[in-house]
Amino acid sequence: MEDKYILSLDIGTSTIRSVIYNSKTDIIGKAFEQVILHYPKPGFVEVDPDELWQSIVNVVKKSLEDASLSAAQITAMGISTQRGTFITWSRKTGRPFHRFCTWKDIRADKLVTEWNNSYTLKAIKFGAYVLHMVTRSKRFRAASVFNFTNNQTILRLSWALHNIQALKDAVQNKEAMFGTLDTWLLYKLTGNKVHISDVSSASATALYDPFTMQWAGWAMQFFNIPFSILPEVVDTAGEHFTSTVPEIWGHAIPIRSCIADQTASMWGSCCFDVGEVKVTMGTGTFFNINTGRTPHASVSGLYPVVAWRLGNELVFSAEGASNDTATIITWAQSIGLFENPADTAEIAMSVPDTDGTYFIPAFSGLGPPYNDSTAAVGFIGIKPSTVKAHLVRAVLEAIAFRTVQLCTCVRAETNYVFNYVRLDGGVSNNDFIVQLVSDLTGLRVERPAQVEMTSLGCAHIVGLQLGIFKSKEELKSMRKIGTVFVPRPHIKKAYENTFRRWEEAVKRMCGWYQ
Ligand code: ADP
Repeated sequence: MEDKYILSLDIGTSTIRSVIYNSKTDIIGKAFEQVILHYPKPGFVEVDPDELWQSIVNVVKKSLEDASLSAAQITAMGISTQRGTFITWSRKTGRPFHRFCTWKDIRADKLVTEWNNSYTLKAIKFGAYVLHMVTRSKRFRAASVFNFTNNQTILRLSWALHNIQALKDAVQNKEAMFGTLDTWLLYKLTGNKVHISDVSSASATALYDPFTMQWAGWAMQFFNIPFSILPEVVDTAGEHFTSTVPEIWGHAIPIRSCIADQTASMWGSCCFDVGEVKVTMGTGTFFNINTGRTPHASVSGLYPVVAWRLGNELVFSAEGASNDTATIITWAQSIGLFENPADTAEIAMSVPDTDGTYFIPAFSGLGPPYNDSTAAVGFIGIKPSTVKAHLVRAVLEAIAFRTVQLCTCVRAETNYVFNYVRLDGGVSNNDFIVQLVSDLTGLRVERPAQVEMTSLGCAHIVGLQLGIFKSKEELKSMRKIGTVFVPRPHIKKAYENTFRRWEEAVKRMCGWYQ
């Protein structure tokens, strides 16, 4: 009998990957290309839609060649994308009004700060707090601590609606369409047929209310965002995604799932049950805990996202993010701290400590528990005796420390008991960072044999839809764990002072750009 093949297309922030899996979830073909980021002005981080489209077409083609398959032999495909990155385009011509404004873009930072300090938002939060006290509603509790951030789409879209003339005109003429990356890609792949977004991607925009499960009317009113530009929000898997048009790869490929990257990797790591945790260390670090049918109302800045919705199965995740992880590694490499990221663990271990040097990883500000977009990046404590290896170790320690802090936030705010985390993402290849995360959180850390859980998760969902996989239990039985890291209590003790000093250093960098 002929095997079935699932193609997973993953559009990350740094990398576009196409991976082809067989029905045993073995990888039989893959290809990748780097995403070209444009920085036209300070704070602007853009992706050109034509360049992205060309790369996507090429990457899929190369993965088919690698697997010696034609598009006709692909049973179905799934798509996972970075979240919060958006574009607007013309309903008439299909042409975009601007490049993608990515989730790393901080052009709306002034708006974010103004809104977070505004009396309007403070009054809304106070009102929500009072309502929460009266009704004990989780929705009002979440609203009482809500703050805008740059990586949410909402204020960057508001910026675009005010500053891009062609978009303003198109909105007037009811010709404008808005979409996050997934929505635009589905529109292109289907020959302009569908204008939809899966609920997991929609919920990461802050335009979608996870408590009412619809576009947030209050946000539309406040920011003058017309409903007419928004896509329809759909389930994470199903036939509504239709098929790619045959012209792209020579044959139509059915699309059966579209999901946000972080929750796709929850699927890859088989975090199906309430309280299960995965940490993805890619461009940023994303700590996700499965909170089941309940959106988590946070006080420290964890964000409640819809993880997936498959018919009656609605699952939420509380998410804590540290926006700078691989970005720090790439920067440190670019200034010559090391030649190859793969060498960094060994370099860090070549010295017993950082010689009192601390690094603050905040190119895009600091997420929970600080929630400070004005924090500065820097080394503190450099001495004449400091050598490169100390700096490398300080960088890796800082990445591990931020992950530990996210874990502490989740533990402080929820009653879930977890004693292991499942790791993935490029930076999770680093043994030094992963062991330190295990030591300081006291958790067993499982790293899979291959760390691309996002594309695997997407394949899991597609395969379940098609009946290639029978159940989540079957998926769990197919998990391929690579390395398990066990906590070392004496290291945690030895790090007490270092961790405390690092936290003091971070506090000094907070508010720097205010
Ligand atoms: P994304 O999916 O967000 O595009 P990835 O998960 O592919 O990102 O991560 C890629 C990054 O991982 C690269 O930028 C690389 O610098 C980093 N990386 C790969 N191996 C290591 C390693 N051993 N130590 C530290 N960083 C690494």
